[in-house]
Amino acid sequence: MVESFTNSDVVVIGAGAAGLMAAGRAAECGASVVVLEKTDGPGKKILVSGKSRCNLTNSADRNAFLAMYGPNGRFLHGTFSRFFRPELLAFFEWQGLKTKLERGGRIFPVSDDARDVVGAFERYLSRGGVRTVFNAKVEAIRAGDAGFVVQTARGDFSGRTVVIATGGLLAENRLHGRRLCVCAFAGSSPGPAAARSGAARCERSRFSQIHARGFSAQCSRHGLVRIG
Ligand SMILES: Cc1cc2nc3c(=O)[nH]c(=O)nc-3n(C[C@H](O)[C@H](O)[C@H](O)COP(=O)(O)OP(=O)(O)OC[C@H]3O[C@@H](n4cnc5c(N)ncnc54)[C@H](O)[C@@H]3O)c2cc1C
Repeated sequence: MVESFTNSDVVVIGAGAAGLMAAGRAAECGASVVVLEKTDGPGKKILVSGKSRCNLTNSADRNAFLAMYGPNGRFLHGTFSRFFRPELLAFFEWQGLKTKLERGGRIFPVSDDARDVVGAFERYLSRGGVRTVFNAKVEAIRAGDAGFVVQTARGDFSGRTVVIATGGLLAENRLHGRRLCVCAFAGSSPGPAAARSGAARCERSRFSQIHARGFSAQCSRHGLVRIG
């Protein structure tokens, strides 16, 4: 069935860890949000992470996390100072997910079930009234009257801001002078704290700021975007 939603503040492409967190946070800040996902459900990669247990984060200190990113770690200082492991664990606690510490400082859901992590994200989105549309592979993005029109097989979705969280690089993030935001969550422990921290990497960023009612994402010239 072809559908369309108009006038969303934010259209998020991709329902992985990055897109789910970005969508939930944008909605929490008051934005109307729709998530477009090409598969039939959210968090597919989360479900296979940590041998389906999802190693959420690690008890290592901030410097150890930053060191994992090599020279790029310096771009995460600001983000980690705003949102690090305590905030992440508090976030999951808020969503009803209990966690436990294991050897090597690894932190997992008490249930040992990655599906509960996806469930936590789903509750977060539900609280914010986020619409999710599955089997909606994005085929093109074009400039619209007041932002962008995102084309999918399920129809067109317009939004003032587009967050691209498709887990890979995008060659172009600027379209007719409008603002596009590319997010990526880092992987493998303890690196994934970046993902959980709400940090997102913005590839080849040349724009500086994204605003939608109560929601902003800042992109540094180095390509780091901060949502919230
Ligand atoms: C086997 C494995 C084990 C892992 N274990 C861990 C672990 O224990 N702990 C940990 O922290 N990390 C782990 N990781 C890494 C972690 O899973 C990733 O870093 C994280 O999930 C990446 O999230 P993302 O949102 O950036 O990308 P993704 O999860 O890849 O999400 C991108 C989403 O965008 C969608 N998409 C792509 N193109 C389009 C399009 N054109 N239109 C619409 N939707 C589109 C995709 O279908 C996907 O759902 C593991 C990864 C793997 C593969």
